[in-house]
Amino acid sequence: MKYISTRGKAPVLGFEEVLLTGLATDGGLYVPEKLPTYSLDEIRSWRELPYDQLAYKIIQPFVSDFIDGDELRAMLSDTYAAFAHKAVVPLQQIDHNEYVMELFHGPTLAFKDFALQLLGRLLDHSLQKRGEKAVIMGATSGDTGSAAIEGCRRCENIDIFILHPHNRVSDVQRRQMTTVLGDNIHNIAIEGNFDDCQRMVKESFADQSFLRGERRLVAVNSINWARIMAQIVYYFYAALNLGGPDRKIAFSVPTGNFGDIFAGYLAMQMGLPIDQLVIATNKNDVLHRLMSQNKYEALPLEHTLSPSMDIVVSSNFERLLFDLYDRNGPAIADLMTAMSTGSATVDASKLDKARAVFDSDCASDEETCATIRDVHAQTGYLLDPHTAIGVKAARATRRHTNVPMVTLGTAHPVKFAEAVSKSGLASPELPLHLSDLMQREERYTVLANDRKTVHDFMVNEVFQ
Ligand SMILES: *Cc1c(COP(=O)(O)O)cnc(C)c1O
Repeated sequence: MKYISTRGKAPVLGFEEVLLTGLATDGGLYVPEKLPTYSLDEIRSWRELPYDQLAYKIIQPFVSDFIDGDELRAMLSDTYAAFAHKAVVPLQQIDHNEYVMELFHGPTLAFKDFALQLLGRLLDHSLQKRGEKAVIMGATSGDTGSAAIEGCRRCENIDIFILHPHNRVSDVQRRQMTTVLGDNIHNIAIEGNFDDCQRMVKESFADQSFLRGERRLVAVNSINWARIMAQIVYYFYAALNLGGPDRKIAFSVPTGNFGDIFAGYLAMQMGLPIDQLVIATNKNDVLHRLMSQNKYEALPLEHTLSPSMDIVVSSNFERLLFDLYDRNGPAIADLMTAMSTGSATVDASKLDKARAVFDSDCASDEETCATIRDVHAQTGYLLDPHTAIGVKAARATRRHTNVPMVTLGTAHPVKFAEAVSKSGLASPELPLHLSDLMQREERYTVLANDRKTVHDFMVNEVFQ
């Protein structure tokens, strides 16, 4: 399969090059040149498949010129066997015809494991073939860092450096990163804030000369196409388990960078009957304002009880705009320029196309806690704050009550104790595989907020 840039001016690439590349050279994002599509009969024939075998059906066409079928099968089986629930993505019913799809049974208890567990293996496979080694560098305020570290811990050809702001991430989140002790895992606590960490990572990608041209620097952030690809699978899985493709299903998705919900949109383009996709945001509601008022305006960041959705702009939204604008790269390049300069509007007819399937809603911290409290009172089920925003949005925007509504359960509530306690509820226990997390040995290095200091440390670790 070939991949093209949303801005139309970068080279067409194969899967492996896209995997190793972040942004396209024209500043755009890579998307498949042509999506595979499936008939209802084909989709129906997947109904009995366990998760890893369904993943094979969905993922294979995207990667077929990179990895052979048997190796991919083994890789997917290995990836999803590491999840702590036999069903991988169990569905929990919370009301009549209303469900939570639990995406938090992976090693770090959040949905990012679905993509990053696979991404680490795909990268290692590529580097092994090429006889290369790579360095991954990322900044985290929580979720992504631990999921990336867990995804790379067994990779033989990758050193991973994750920067977090010293003393500014929760104990659970820090320990999920710093208690992974492999020689290729390097946690750096920066004496600064998250923006300092992020800036340092950006500058390192812009000038990689500190790696002496001997190592490639790879990004695993949410614009990486392979992450989105992996997330398409669970939309099919949930639908097939609720009577799809012979009935339509609706999904509500707690949204930050628009990666997860874009995977749902792709599932629909591939032939899965989807009635409705709900963009659920917290107070960082740039997408909700765009969808409801056709006004795109980046506002200052707000810190909320759902920190993994605290974003100013949603980078993957560009991938949807590309389709809405009939894949016109130059038009997207212009639109993105307009959007980056403050305030912009989208062509009304294009927005109408989006509104045919997407709805949107936003929740305050108070509404998030009220939803956690209500659902717990009604069912005994405890939502994490991100999932609660999804449930609130699902209920506010639902089109047809006879269509099953599935909210994506993006994290386990134990990761977000503050929101649970502000809802007046007791924090749950850590799941069994993490029950000794607070006693495990930690390893991390505190460094000054200074790029040269960080680069010297990295070079010393990589080339020691
Ligand atoms: C990353 C994350 C989100 C947002 O996902 P996007 O793909 O960025 O839209 C939602 N909930 C949790 C728990 C997350 O970690």
